[in-house]
Amino acid sequence: MPHQTLSPRRRLRQFVRAAGIGVSHYVGNHPFFAGLAGTLVAVAMAGLTLLTLSDGRIEALDHARETSQNIVSIMSSDLERNVEIDDLSLQAMVDGARNPASWTLPADVQRAVLFDRATTAAYLGGAYVIGRDGQVIATQTGEVKGSVRLADRDYFLAHQRSPSVGLYFSHPFRSRLRDGKLSIGLTRRIDDAAGAFAGVALLAIRIEYFQNLLDRINTGKQGSVFIVMDDGTLLARKPFAPNDIGGSIAKSPTFQKMAARDAGTYVAISAVDGVRRMYTYSRVPGTPLIAVVAPAVDDVLAPWRHRGVIVGVLTIAFGAVFVMVSWLLAFALRDKLHAQAALVRLAATDPLTGLSNRRVLDSRLDEEWRRARRTRQPLSVLFIDVDHFKRFNDTYGHASGDEALIAVTECITAVVRRSIDVVARYGGEEFAVVLPETSVEGALQVAEKIRRRVQNQSIAQSDGEKTAVTVSIGCATSVPADGVNVLDLLAAADRQLYAAKAAGRNQVSSTARIERPVTQGSPS
Ligand code: GH3
Ligand code: MG
Ligand code: MG
Repeated sequence: MPHQTLSPRRRLRQFVRAAGIGVSHYVGNHPFFAGLAGTLVAVAMAGLTLLTLSDGRIEALDHARETSQNIVSIMSSDLERNVEIDDLSLQAMVDGARNPASWTLPADVQRAVLFDRATTAAYLGGAYVIGRDGQVIATQTGEVKGSVRLADRDYFLAHQRSPSVGLYFSHPFRSRLRDGKLSIGLTRRIDDAAGAFAGVALLAIRIEYFQNLLDRINTGKQGSVFIVMDDGTLLARKPFAPNDIGGSIAKSPTFQKMAARDAGTYVAISAVDGVRRMYTYSRVPGTPLIAVVAPAVDDVLAPWRHRGVIVGVLTIAFGAVFVMVSWLLAFALRDKLHAQAALVRLAATDPLTGLSNRRVLDSRLDEEWRRARRTRQPLSVLFIDVDHFKRFNDTYGHASGDEALIAVTECITAVVRRSIDVVARYGGEEFAVVLPETSVEGALQVAEKIRRRVQNQSIAQSDGEKTAVTVSIGCATSVPADGVNVLDLLAAADRQLYAAKAAGRNQVSSTARIERPVTQGSPS
């Protein structure tokens, strides 16, 4: 026949089937493995869910950071662009003011020359040219309040002190020229022809400009967004905090972190309201401004938490059910195994005496015969039969007969104690004992001990009297060899039993010799 190789697919299928049988066999014999495996699977699933949830948390925070960065970037460009436009107006004002011809023009033309472009500035509070002594010498509206002096303003002092300040951002101030509302000043120095300080060009920007920029941004229930100067002066904040505007947050730890770098993100607990926020900030290029978006971590994580609670509860619920079902199965399997073992035990034992029955005897005998053949050790068998038992039954009743059989059993098991020995009820009032690795002499000794023990044991009867029963025992010993089988050994033992009966009962007969009883105690 040509050698056939299995295709890999068939081999795989065979392997899977073998593995399946192996696993089911293992689980069938180790019921708690099912419960344990179920529990492990549930724990692993819960772990995976936890991992996914924790990933989701990181994702939610990452997403919030990206969104915040985008908002900060848009805020920053808006501010930067407006400052650029304002600076162009300022530069035009400076150029106009430096030109001596401007000051000789009629008032309306002069205004047009100086402040033409300033009118486009967003939230313009006013455009002014301030003279070297701090008095306003020209305004966009044309109205000049000569009495107002601005020489004490920070921007005036800065420009007066140094020619190289460039574009200057003032701190918020309350306008002396208008309604006293908060503004910040964007200023440039005006030099005279010789390069000496000749005054300041000022664009006053109403602080609402910044507030308005923030109002358009949604930062969630507890989030905040604000614009702060690099020295900690707060220009605008949402939620709006009128009392804080113009004040300093320089001492707050959250500000100190953002003052150190141009841009970044960090999570911190607000010193003001104790809310944990994710601060994302960036400096506005060309300005001393910092734009900050700070959504509350709770707001950012709220959808994730909501999902987490649902997923967590479901995972725990399903996991618990899974574990419960696994253990129920495990316990059911265990009970089944116990029941099966009990059945096997029941099928193997004789109900009256609790001894092994004929079936077990046959298989054990077979086993021991083969072992003896391998080890070349002698194997002995005893056949024990109660003497005149029919008569005993007839005299004392069947119940007493049963008691007598139990008593005989106790005598036999008290003598035959090695774990490899087999004591079985062969049938009726006959017992068989298998004694592996036991010589003729050994078997004879055991048999004689049994015989004597039975004879010396008196059995209480229902009428209070005590009687004794005796047994006859046939012994046979063999070292298994080719051409001899276990049935020959049994037949030999049976012959010896017959011989013991024939010789008068209550005695042991062996293939080696016949034992005479010490005393005659049979109920004859
Ligand atoms: P012998 O000395 O020649 O063995 O005589 P015997 O009466 O013991 O012989 P026999 O085999 O004729 O009788 C066996 C009796 O054992 C028959 C039956 O009454 C009794 N017997 C068998 N099994 C049981 C049992 O389970 N319980 C009781 N009480 N008696 C049993
Ligand atoms: Mg009999
Ligand atoms: Mg008998």
